Amino acid sequence: MIYLDYAATTPVDSRVFDAMLPYFRESFGNPSSIHRFGQKAEAAVDAAREKVAAVLHCKPGEIIFTSCGSESDNLALRGAAIAKRNVTGKKWILTSKTEHHAVSKTAQQLEKEYGFLLEWLDVDEYGAIRPISLNKAVCTDTVLASVMFANNEIGTINPIPELAAIARANNILFHTDAVQAAAYLDVNVEKLGVDLMSLGGHKFYGPKGVGALYVRNGTELIPQMTGGGQESSLRAGTQNVPYIVGFAVALQLAMEERDARIAHVQPLRDHIIGEVLETISDSKLTGHPESRLPNHASFVFKDVDGNLLLQLLDSAGFACSSGSACKTGNPEPSEVITSLGTPRNWALGSLRITLGVDSSPAHVDEFLKTLPILVEKARGLHQR
Ligand SMILES: *Cc1c(COP(=O)(O)O)cnc(C)c1O
Repeated sequence: MIYLDYAATTPVDSRVFDAMLPYFRESFGNPSSIHRFGQKAEAAVDAAREKVAAVLHCKPGEIIFTSCGSESDNLALRGAAIAKRNVTGKKWILTSKTEHHAVSKTAQQLEKEYGFLLEWLDVDEYGAIRPISLNKAVCTDTVLASVMFANNEIGTINPIPELAAIARANNILFHTDAVQAAAYLDVNVEKLGVDLMSLGGHKFYGPKGVGALYVRNGTELIPQMTGGGQESSLRAGTQNVPYIVGFAVALQLAMEERDARIAHVQPLRDHIIGEVLETISDSKLTGHPESRLPNHASFVFKDVDGNLLLQLLDSAGFACSSGSACKTGNPEPSEVITSLGTPRNWALGSLRITLGVDSSPAHVDEFLKTLPILVEKARGLHQR
């Protein structure tokens, strides 16, 4: 079986795993305890926070550990929007249809249940949010804008520094979901200029079930998990010490090894994109041709059932994705693909191939030999 779905999740790096192990049994203390067991656990969490802060170029106190990327997105949007509305009365939220559901569904809930107003930013044909689209949408009543750094389905990278500068000039809080981006892009918050940034461990060879939110000093948040005073009273609950340790090691490795990892995956990705477009009729790249994640290739095929194609690929030994989370039942095209203006009979045939550490030229060659045959097979079985 060949794994080509690193955007869905990654295996835990063995160095990360080794760093986590002592905190399950020997050093199992509660970081909030006064005694030495507690002190040891607290020291591990503090060290992890400093490591993460060093990668992000921020202060350790600006890092809040959470249970996942989704929780970070929830805390950022709901926490910051409500806190800022309490002070200013502003109630417009700006985001886009290309966001991960952890952002878009949270924004929709804020509109439906919390009395906020929601405007979807225009996206271009590559699924990018251009500065002009944010400029057009901001008003004096805007409280927060949320635009993802890199898209999980189509790989497109958004111009975050330009967008964050527009938000700042208009006194609007700016959040970015960098969960997918952190594996390959520089997540230096000074350069990005963001107020809030979400990260999730399992997209960069860390464990699942741990994330972080960067909160710029001075940004008020209403906690979403109330209880004890952990994480500056912004996220109650005893810290998951081994996972936090693993998260920090994985993020540090992602930074240190970034250039080598890009050099490994990018030529493979370019080979896939070139070959697929050349050998498969009625195929189209989704997302931006250049400004995209270096490990990410995504396509739509005309008159193909994307789920059927994934099953055929699985039977042939390849683990890929359609890019969207929809797995069963009456297939609806992904909102991200639809927002690009892709017609339905193309949008239903989406395929995402994402590479990682264990991807090899031999894997890619085998995949490229098999895919055209399976696309034709899926087309033959297509119900119109
Ligand atoms: C995976 C992902 C998330 C969710 O992260 P979890 O840790 O799985 O909750 C959010 N946003 C993007 C862009 C992602 O790729």
